[in-house]
Amino acid sequence: MTENKRLITFIIPAYNEESNIRRFYSETNKIVSSLNNYICEFVFIDDGSNDSTWQVIKEISDLNSIVKGIRLSRNFGKEMALTAGIIEWTKSSDAVIFMDADLQHPPSIIPSLIQQWELGFQIVTAQRKSIRYSMWREIGSNFFFFMLNRFSKLNIQHKATDFRLLDRKVLEALQTFPERNRFFRGIIDWMGFEKASITFDSPDRINGASTFSFKNLFNLAINSFTSFSLMPLRITGYIGLAVTTISSLLFLYMIIIHLVLGLTIFTKLAYFVVFNTLLFGIVLAALGLIALYIGNIHTEVSGRPLYIVQDRVGFIKNNLL
Ligand code: UDP
Ligand code: MG
Repeated sequence: MTENKRLITFIIPAYNEESNIRRFYSETNKIVSSLNNYICEFVFIDDGSNDSTWQVIKEISDLNSIVKGIRLSRNFGKEMALTAGIIEWTKSSDAVIFMDADLQHPPSIIPSLIQQWELGFQIVTAQRKSIRYSMWREIGSNFFFFMLNRFSKLNIQHKATDFRLLDRKVLEALQTFPERNRFFRGIIDWMGFEKASITFDSPDRINGASTFSFKNLFNLAINSFTSFSLMPLRITGYIGLAVTTISSLLFLYMIIIHLVLGLTIFTKLAYFVVFNTLLFGIVLAALGLIALYIGNIHTEVSGRPLYIVQDRVGFIKNNLL
């Protein structure tokens, strides 16, 4: 009974992956075709590749009806490619699985992801066990997630990857996010839902090099940080307050020494420097205040939904009834 089978959509962002896609498809399809209780489809998102990635996707799609492709007009970055995937293709999917095209997300754990989903988890994340990248990237990513979790109200595990399964309900909620600056792991953590995670050993990418340069990762880190936390501006404000307090006390002390005790131990330059520091402190403190305003504006402008309904019970489904 095909009608009862649930539909799982694989969304695969691909940027210059001409040498990986065929192998990705054949290896993943091997696993997927053994899942008899599901209908699976593949949606490749060509993220503005400048090699023959799109031709390869078209070829595979012509031969296999379960393969679809979307081509973005330019390189928008992985987060946007994933967004395009869920907006364009999931109207009828019961779940979506995000996977990288370079086989760093081993297809062999797909059945475990699905198993967790069947147990009732709406978000199933795959976490890598081993260290995968250079020492510097690992240190950088550890530091980034430490700071992000510390200063925003999120709790993202740094070894969590984008290899994950999302239930239909999560997808519906994601469609209501109008914000332009998307950091999937952040948004998904922010949303709540029932989560599970499984671990895997991450192999090296099969062909080509990782396209995430230091600059890309740095930008992603800054964007994610600023869209979830105003801490940097606030810290500036706190420093400003401290500078103001200390320098005004010092200034007061100097004036008392001069006026009350009649001593002239400080030079004019000293008064000038301390007074200047005081003004500088006030400016920094004012920046911190601006952070509070920006915080409010940001919440409004990003237009995130105020809450998300995970389930409903007792409602009449169709208003016409
Ligand atoms: N990717 C993309 N757009 C980009 C960069 C990467 O769609 O601008 C895709 C890429 O094709 C791959 C996945 O995102 O399928 C992960 O990329 P990569 O392997 O370069 O990242 P890493 O494994 O180093 O995190
Ligand atoms: Mg990779």
